[in-house]
Amino acid sequence: VASQSLKTSESQRVLKEAADLMPGGVSSPVRAFKSVGGNAVVFDSVKGSKAYDIDGNEYVDYIGSWGPAIVGAANEEVNAALAEALKKGTSFGAPSVLENELAKLVIDAVPSIEMVRFVNSGTEACMSVVRVMRAFTERQKILKFSGCYHGHADMYLVQAGSGVLTLGLPDSPGVPKASTETTLVAKYNDLDSVRSVFEQNKGEIAGVILEPVVGNSGFIPPTQEFLTGLREITEQEGALLCFDEVMTGFRIAYSGAQGYFGIKPDLSTFGKVIGGGLPVGAYGGRKDIMSLVAPAGPVYQAGTLSGNPLAMTAGIKTLEIMKRPGSYEYLDKITGRLINGLLEIGKEYGHAVCGGHISGMWGLFFCEEPVTCFEDVKEKCDFDKFARYHRGMLENGIYLAPSQYEAGFTSLQHTEADIDRTLAAARVVMKDL
Ligand code: PMP
Repeated sequence: VASQSLKTSESQRVLKEAADLMPGGVSSPVRAFKSVGGNAVVFDSVKGSKAYDIDGNEYVDYIGSWGPAIVGAANEEVNAALAEALKKGTSFGAPSVLENELAKLVIDAVPSIEMVRFVNSGTEACMSVVRVMRAFTERQKILKFSGCYHGHADMYLVQAGSGVLTLGLPDSPGVPKASTETTLVAKYNDLDSVRSVFEQNKGEIAGVILEPVVGNSGFIPPTQEFLTGLREITEQEGALLCFDEVMTGFRIAYSGAQGYFGIKPDLSTFGKVIGGGLPVGAYGGRKDIMSLVAPAGPVYQAGTLSGNPLAMTAGIKTLEIMKRPGSYEYLDKITGRLINGLLEIGKEYGHAVCGGHISGMWGLFFCEEPVTCFEDVKEKCDFDKFARYHRGMLENGIYLAPSQYEAGFTSLQHTEADIDRTLAAARVVMKDL
């Protein structure tokens, strides 16, 4: 069985030093494990479905660098391609054939994408796409959903009120009110809340942006009616529809959530998987809209490292692997076994649990069904129990996202044996929760 006593002295030493060097000791907040109250572990290496920390502990990794590691970490084919690319230089700051290659892969895979611009992160992609939406429609306001994360640009850092619709209030100090005044918030999976926002802001909304499957409030799938309704309402109102596929793109299907649910947005953003573990984001969509972007058009957006040859290479190889027959069927099968097993064990030991998956994206909540929006997670879930569960799983060699507000990820390298090991650990942990 997976049980191991966790030696963490080296991790603790490094984290203590880091706390004086970087805010919170980290380069990005969630990895500090603050929300589950425990100490984080410091990684030494990753390989396939596993992560290894600097104390020598091995974990089955269900974060996978927060999504990019879909073909398995340190994949041999990706590494070999990178080794070749490295010989030609780390950065060009000039056009390369590699950009065409990745652009063609994305355009061929995702029906709504006719033209694409590469950037360096999901944040950058979402920040840039709003500028284009506003320029195209000559309107100012954008509509997002409570609990959906689109990176840390000012206009997206809006606290979701418990009401159906809230006027944007900044969620972080340092965000000027002016940046969020034009951000409107509606409730996920709730078309009435969307209609009422549109009624109150007639002719002023440039576009709607959403996670087509939510990962940033935990795993919350949309209803088909919700996505279809959003497409209809935006068309009627002359607003654009943008799918933020930073998490779902090339993960829940090769054609993304939009392919999976059969909806054609005007614009989309990507990140994570399309960079194969290197820093890449992208935004794209209809040619008439994307043609506004500089230097083709007047909407300015640029990047020194954008289209970087190493990042393009990792992305190309990753998509090539994902395109092979059976990839998504395998992810769906292995992830289904994982989440169904966890739910079964949780129920067996008397816990209120629910959750689900689509392909290699999944999540578990400690509450009764249904969870259809961020408000459900916030109001219904047992956060203390989740923290104990997270710590218990970590101590038993299972590396899970440290919050009920995060989805989990699997890769093509997660095996039946990994799932067995995870379920064995869950049995040990759920029993005493
Ligand atoms: N959009 C979504 C849906 C995301 O999940 C994320 C990151 N988790 C982002 C945007 C921001 O991407 P990045 O962290 O690469 O800036």
